[in-house]
Amino acid sequence: MAAAFVDKARIAVKAGKGGNGAVAFHREKYIAAGGPDGGDGGRGGDVIVQADEHMSTLMDFRYKRKYVASDGGDGQGARRSGKDGQSLTIRVPKGTLLRDAETNEIIHDMSDAEPFVLCRGGRGGWGNCHFATPTRQAPRFAKAGMPGEEHDVVLELKLLADVGLVGFPNVGKSTLLSVVSKAHPKIANYHFTTLFPNLGVVFVEGGESFVMADIPGIIEGASEGAGLGHDFLRHVDRCRLLVHVVDVSGSEGRDPATDFDAINEELRQYSPDLAQRPQIVVANKSDIMADEELLERLRKRAEEEGYPLFVISAAAHQGTRELVQTIAARLRSLPPVQTYEAEYVKPAPVIDTPVLPDIRVEDGVWIVEGPWLERLIANVNFSDYESRMFFDKQLRESGLFQRMEEMGVQDGDLVRMYNLEFEYQR
Ligand code: GDP
Ligand code: MG
Repeated sequence: MAAAFVDKARIAVKAGKGGNGAVAFHREKYIAAGGPDGGDGGRGGDVIVQADEHMSTLMDFRYKRKYVASDGGDGQGARRSGKDGQSLTIRVPKGTLLRDAETNEIIHDMSDAEPFVLCRGGRGGWGNCHFATPTRQAPRFAKAGMPGEEHDVVLELKLLADVGLVGFPNVGKSTLLSVVSKAHPKIANYHFTTLFPNLGVVFVEGGESFVMADIPGIIEGASEGAGLGHDFLRHVDRCRLLVHVVDVSGSEGRDPATDFDAINEELRQYSPDLAQRPQIVVANKSDIMADEELLERLRKRAEEEGYPLFVISAAAHQGTRELVQTIAARLRSLPPVQTYEAEYVKPAPVIDTPVLPDIRVEDGVWIVEGPWLERLIANVNFSDYESRMFFDKQLRESGLFQRMEEMGVQDGDLVRMYNLEFEYQR
């Protein structure tokens, strides 16, 4: 069965890179050379995730898998800063878990309205206007922008509802939801009607309300992955209370007590924790009940499990008001909807051991490049003295200066490392 409902998706997310700081010098008529006035690079845009109450599937993520925020603009002369990159907001259904794609650890539970910054944009680099010091009046330093954070993330939808409707297909779950709430689930007399979970807000007399979820039908063998139902059970994971709907009409030759046991067995196999969740048993379709004996057997089984039983007819609106009040009363004594704590810890930036970069001389300029050096430059804050000393030490340890001496570098020679330019000094 090709279900169009998508409740898991993998995406790649990348924040914008910070703009580079500018190396520029103030120029005015009659003044030969002014001070450094290169502006800062703009910040890279963040990638933000926001829960959206009006979404109920992750379908949008099926075809679009890459999400990239824009880069910050480069700084310019006259102390003009580069533009900040625009952040990108990804909307997900409320209740979506963000997981690290590699470890499967939970990064965040999107169960409230707070936007979550998943990837931070890179800081903009400082322009050389910051580097004017009494001893160095015309600095050629400017800092490169930092790269934006990247993350491969799995989105997993776990609906947020107080009450989950469980039961075989066709027992009247969608009908019940439509009768007690303003939701309009599809109702039809065949199995597997519900392919999308439906959420309905149920308003109780006295101003209270709760959220009820109608999930696609659980079928026998579902917990072994045999059918459609297995995946959908994760949507009742968070529910505080299960309303177990059983068809007591005896149509199709079904036995309500057997159905009741079969569904409970499915829940147990999927998750023992879910099988322990409080239940209210609803004996539906009482209006066309052919054999009172079937109801009595179900009642006995419910009693043995310690669950209250309600006899209703969803279609005829019989007993539904009382049921809603009982559910509301029961919810008052139950803990709130479960939210998941973050497990994922952002790794600290790796400053790896120094590697001698490539050195070449072009038109008298010493050009020094290499992946290690590029990472190092991106991580050093050149406006900070300590950081500059750290940078210097790392370069020394890489053997760079020794190698340059061997190659014949002279004091005052221009050295260029990506966006960094300086005069060589022993
Ligand atoms: P679901 O698969 O559990 O969501 O079941 P539906 O709500 O789609 O209902 C399946 C069929 O049972 C539909 O034809 C409904 O009209 C019918 N039905 C639901 N509740 C009742 C009821 O209380 N009495 C009768 N006679 N039919 C019902
Ligand atoms: Mg249904």
